Amino acid sequence: MPESFTHVGLPSRILLGPGTLDQVPAEAEGLKVLLIATKSARDSADLLERALGDAFAGRIDEVRQHVPTETADAARAQAAEVGATGIVAIGGGSAIGLAKAIALVQGQPIIAVPTTYAGSEMTPVWGQTEGGDKRTGTDLRVLPKVVIYDPLLSRGLPLKVTAASVANALAHCVEATWTEKADPITEVIAVEGARALREGLLQVLDNPTDLDARSNLLYGASLAGSALATAGTGIHHKLCHLLGGTYNLPHAETHAAVLPQVTRVKALKVPRAKARLETALETDDLAAGLFDLFAQAGVPTSLRELGLTEAQAREAARRFAGAAPANAVQLDEAAVTDILTRAWAGERPE
Ligand code: NAD
Repeated sequence: MPESFTHVGLPSRILLGPGTLDQVPAEAEGLKVLLIATKSARDSADLLERALGDAFAGRIDEVRQHVPTETADAARAQAAEVGATGIVAIGGGSAIGLAKAIALVQGQPIIAVPTTYAGSEMTPVWGQTEGGDKRTGTDLRVLPKVVIYDPLLSRGLPLKVTAASVANALAHCVEATWTEKADPITEVIAVEGARALREGLLQVLDNPTDLDARSNLLYGASLAGSALATAGTGIHHKLCHLLGGTYNLPHAETHAAVLPQVTRVKALKVPRAKARLETALETDDLAAGLFDLFAQAGVPTSLRELGLTEAQAREAARRFAGAAPANAVQLDEAAVTDILTRAWAGERPE
C-alpha cells in the first residue's frame, strides 16, 4: 500500500520521434507564430519558417542564457508588434525560457522543440535575470502546450554539452525523490528518467550521432522535466541557483559538480528511492555512482574546475544558510559548507 499522497499531473501533449519537427505546422494550426531559435537551430528554424507559410509572424535569433530582463522586454515588444498568437521555441532551456517570458505576460501557447536535455519544456517554471539576480516563479501559462522531441535535432549537440545537460536532467530526477512535494508517482517517473538518461549517455559516448541514444536522452529528459515540475526544487537546485547567479558559473556543469555531494547527504533520508535509483543507474552507491558516471562522460566534477575559489565556496555556504529558512533544507551552515567544499575540491563521495 502506498502512503497517502497528492500528485498533480500537468497537461501537455508530447510527440517524440525522428522527423517530428515536420509536425510543428499542424500543431500550430490557427496560430500566428513567433519563432524563437538558438544559433544551433537556425537551419531548422529556416525550414520551419518556410513550412509555416502565412502562419509565420516573426522570428527571434538572439537568445541569451538566464533570460536577461532587457532580452525579455525586447521579445515581448516584438511579439506584440507582429501580433503573435503562438510561440514556437527551438533550442535549449534558454530559447524555451525566452518563450516563457513572453507567454507569462501575453499568454500565448508555446510549442517547444527542445534540443538539449534541460527539461524546461515540461515545467510551468519561468526565470528572468536582472543585474545578476535571477527571479523564478511558477505559472501554468508558461507550461508548453505541445512538446516536440525530434532526436535528429540533437544529433550534433557536442559531447561535452550533451554530458553536462544529462547531468542537469539527472539532478531533476534525483532531487525529485526528496523534496517536500515528492510523491510515489513522481518517484517512478524520476527513476525511469534516470535509467533512460544513463543508458542514453553511455550510448552517445560510444556513438554521438546514434539516433536511438538521442531518443533515449530526450525521453529521459522529458521524464526528468516532469519530475522537476511536480516535485519542485530542493536544496540541490537552490544551491546551484545561488552559485550560478552569484558567481556566474555555467548552469549544467554546476549541477554535475554539486549533485553527488548533496546526494551523499540527502539520499540517506529516502532509502526506498535511493535503492531504486541505484538499480536504475547500476551502482551500489548512488552518490559515488553519479560522480563516476559524470567523470566517465568528461563532465567537470569540481567547482574548482569551473573557476570558483575555495573562499567563494565557503562564502556561498554562508549566504545560503543565512538566506534559506533552516526547515526548508534541514541543513545547517556547517553541513552546507561541507557539501560545497567537497564539491569545490571534486571529492569522490565515499
Ligand atoms: P542553453 O539553452 O543555453 O544551451 C546550451 C548551449 O547549447 C547553447 O550554446 C546552445 O546554442 C547550444 N545548443 C543547444 N542545442 C544544440 C544542438 N542541438 N546542437 C548544438 N548546440 C546546441 O542551455 P540549457 O542547458 O539547455 O538550458 C539552461 C537554461 O535553462 C538555464 O537558464 C536554466 O535556468 C534553464 N532551465 C529552466 C528550467 C525550468 O523549468 N524553467 C529547467 C531547466 C533549465
